[in-house]
Amino acid sequence: MKFKVDEELCIGCGACEGSCPEVFELVDDISTVKLNPVPEELQEGALEAEVNCPVEAISHE
Ligand code: SF4
Repeated sequence: MKFKVDEELCIGCGACEGSCPEVFELVDDISTVKLNPVPEELQEGALEAEVNCPVEAISHE
């Protein structure tokens, strides 16, 4: 499963990094995906971060 952060939408709130730091990292106040594809054991946390993103900037395929 691959994850993506829309840089135009991300407001740098840090929620995804806070809940799933293994996958998401803020760089210059924009979230980036450190691991792609996201390993199976981290997918649940990444999906949770996606659901909880306040501006729906995270997506996956
Ligand atoms: S939760 Fe959403 S808005 Fe907040 S840093 Fe992550 S991608 Fe950006």
